[in-house]
Amino acid sequence: MIDLRSDTITVPTEAMRAAMAAAPVGDDVWGEDPTVIELQEFGAGLFGKEAALYVPSGVMGNQLALRVLCNDGDEVLIDSQAHIYYYEAGAPSVISRVQLRPVESNRGLLDVSALDAAVRPGDVHFPHTRLLCIENTHNRYGGLLMPPDNLAEVAAWAAERDIRLHCDGARLWNAAIGAGIAPAEYAAPFDTLSVCLSKALGAPVGSLLLGSRANIDKALKWRKILGGGMRQAGIIAAGGLHAIREHYGLLAEDHRRAAAFAASLEAAGLGVDTNFNAELKGRLTNIVLLRHDGRRDSSVILEECRRRGLLLSNMGGNMLRAVFHFQVGDAAAQSAVEIATSVFADAV
Ligand SMILES: *Cc1c(COP(=O)(O)O)cnc(C)c1O
Repeated sequence: MIDLRSDTITVPTEAMRAAMAAAPVGDDVWGEDPTVIELQEFGAGLFGKEAALYVPSGVMGNQLALRVLCNDGDEVLIDSQAHIYYYEAGAPSVISRVQLRPVESNRGLLDVSALDAAVRPGDVHFPHTRLLCIENTHNRYGGLLMPPDNLAEVAAWAAERDIRLHCDGARLWNAAIGAGIAPAEYAAPFDTLSVCLSKALGAPVGSLLLGSRANIDKALKWRKILGGGMRQAGIIAAGGLHAIREHYGLLAEDHRRAAAFAASLEAAGLGVDTNFNAELKGRLTNIVLLRHDGRRDSSVILEECRRRGLLLSNMGGNMLRAVFHFQVGDAAAQSAVEIATSVFADAV
């Protein structure tokens, strides 16, 4: 079975398991796990931030960032399709007591005039516009990366208005590889960033929250409050270290396979959602969205793919998703093209 439902479904390799088994560990709630410390220091260096905190999930990384950067009742500007708004179970209202203000983007490209219109005046009637969250790559827009020039423009806009910046960088690794820049370059304008180790990088558990020493110290307290303090977490942190060191460089291969998959389906006249225009092509990473005309229900198409050995995921609205990761090699990627082409040809 070729599983392209998500890049979260990777399982640890033998080498990763060996690194995990051999990891020196201690009690990380006491700050004594050498492997967790190594991961945090390595991550902070990679992203050019003062400090990092190992957290159990990307959601926790994002939610700690909101809690640390905002005060009760603040307003947070966020893309209307962003994970923090769409998929995090209303957590900002529960944990940080903030209000999210969704703004429309052009598939993750932010327009500063749209942001301007969403900033609140300094008047007693209004919440304080405190934070802008940016997702890179953008999950619901099909893994599109944020071009560095758009980020620079938005970051300058936020700095002029004293608005904090958080990056939901679950797949920032893919963005950096896709844009051909260092992770630290993408990270530079942000107060905080959350990056997943458990997606295409292939670690079994965990994310890093990165930022200033002061903000990470505050996040440590909130991680404790949320029950995210872990004891001999070096066992899983070792998987994260191994993933960054050994798998980061493999992401370019995932992008190459995703682009080939999209190009083949497009060449067959099938519904690649990007329409493959030149601008979007430069933003594609490891995800391909496929849109069908709805004559058959998505569940029927998915079942037919499954019967022929290919798993895709359902994004709603006649949209299916294929996500490439290092446990899908060239032969499997080629079979995926053949299966998807034949099933889709009947559907579109
Ligand atoms: C997966 C994902 C998260 C959450 O990560 P979990 O580890 O599943 O909690 C956050 N943001 C984006 C963009 C994601 O794709």
